[in-house]
Amino acid sequence: MSSPAKTVYIETFGCQMNLADTEVVLARLSEAGYQRVDAVADAGLVLYNTCAVRDHAEAKVRGRLGMLKGIKRKRPDLRIGIMGCMAQREKQALIEQFPHVDLVVGTDQFVRMPQLLAQLDAQDHVVATDFGDFEGTQWTATRRSGVNAWVPVMRGCNYNCTYCVVPFTRGKEKSRPPAQVEDEVRALVDQGFVQVTLLGQTVDAYGKTLGDGTNLASLLRRLHEIPGLKRIRFVTSHPKDISDELLDTMSELPRVAKHLHVPAQSGSDRQLRLMGRRYTRADYLRFVERARARMPGVEFLSDFIVGFPRESDEDFRDTASLMDQVRFDGAYVFMYSLRPGTPAANLADDVPTAVKNARCVELLDLQLKHQGEAYAKLHGRSVEVLVEGASKGDDGMLHGRSIGNLNIVFPRLDAAGASRDHLVGQLVQVRIERSTSLTLFGDLPESL
Ligand code: SF4
Repeated sequence: MSSPAKTVYIETFGCQMNLADTEVVLARLSEAGYQRVDAVADAGLVLYNTCAVRDHAEAKVRGRLGMLKGIKRKRPDLRIGIMGCMAQREKQALIEQFPHVDLVVGTDQFVRMPQLLAQLDAQDHVVATDFGDFEGTQWTATRRSGVNAWVPVMRGCNYNCTYCVVPFTRGKEKSRPPAQVEDEVRALVDQGFVQVTLLGQTVDAYGKTLGDGTNLASLLRRLHEIPGLKRIRFVTSHPKDISDELLDTMSELPRVAKHLHVPAQSGSDRQLRLMGRRYTRADYLRFVERARARMPGVEFLSDFIVGFPRESDEDFRDTASLMDQVRFDGAYVFMYSLRPGTPAANLADDVPTAVKNARCVELLDLQLKHQGEAYAKLHGRSVEVLVEGASKGDDGMLHGRSIGNLNIVFPRLDAAGASRDHLVGQLVQVRIERSTSLTLFGDLPESL
């Protein structure tokens, strides 16, 4: 069997953790002499880094694999690999369903990608899905230059929410030693990054498995000392793991974002119990209070699932009323998607799609109403913004984020027509002039 050309096309699905894993794989492949290409036609190796959280994400990958069948027939040297959560979940079954796939690589094995590829010289397929020694693994990542770098600090999850595949696809909670994280962040600052976002499925549980008293608060203190680092963010949190020590630390350290992404999922105790979330509506509200008491203005981002089995109108109204009570600064709303193998798959998926749709639209509308009202109150105020780059929706604007998570855009050119691109990576004051429900628009004081 001849060796594939050393070019790789990689497509990433799903969450930021997958994007971060892709960066590590690209670094490993680059060390092995691979170059990244932007089209399947130019690639000797095609990798899909997959997501299994919703059926929709898996269906997309299956579609891609279907299309590759004919290409592989014409180019038998082409290597095709599946990594990520779908690979971890389906293992050998993926090869049985798609025999033209060469490689199935699990969520703790991707750092060994070059060695796994080498094994293909001697065997037709490689399936590597053991959970491994994540804590001891030191790695580098290939990142596109920019302002923010994503830094995974832990993986896996010790909760077992009944709808979630993560405990199966990412395994038990594992944390990276703080010295290793600090070394990586120092190197990132040397490369020009000024913000890091620490990643974990339940990032506020960071350190528990290390057994030496390390926790997210102590990690934040350690990273906060690094000269040149302007902002530290972290996602995603579980309400049960947010300690007073963590909230006090966030409040005390000026460069730590005053922003918490803490999925509530539902406002109904009955639904929260069925989901296995291990907190009540009252617990969640107490957490919000504790955070606001220490950090007035702290921003909350939440996730909600609508149409979970047995969700009644009353359950749904409880969720809407939780949103009214908290007035979140942002929310992702998802329609329940049954995942085979999860405990919730034993419950009938009994909320009709039309009802799920209507509930989804209602919550999104409510969230937009809350955001629009909150944004209107900011008109005329000055906000410190870390400038991140050109606005996605309008190349003529720059955008940045507040110490919370407000997305604020302002003109890329100043009043004299000079570019402001040199401000990318810097903290500037922006005066808010107007807003939609999604975006705040402002300008620098010099132009006003
Ligand atoms: Fe999944 Fe629950 Fe763990 Fe979040 S906390 S990753 S939803 S099991």
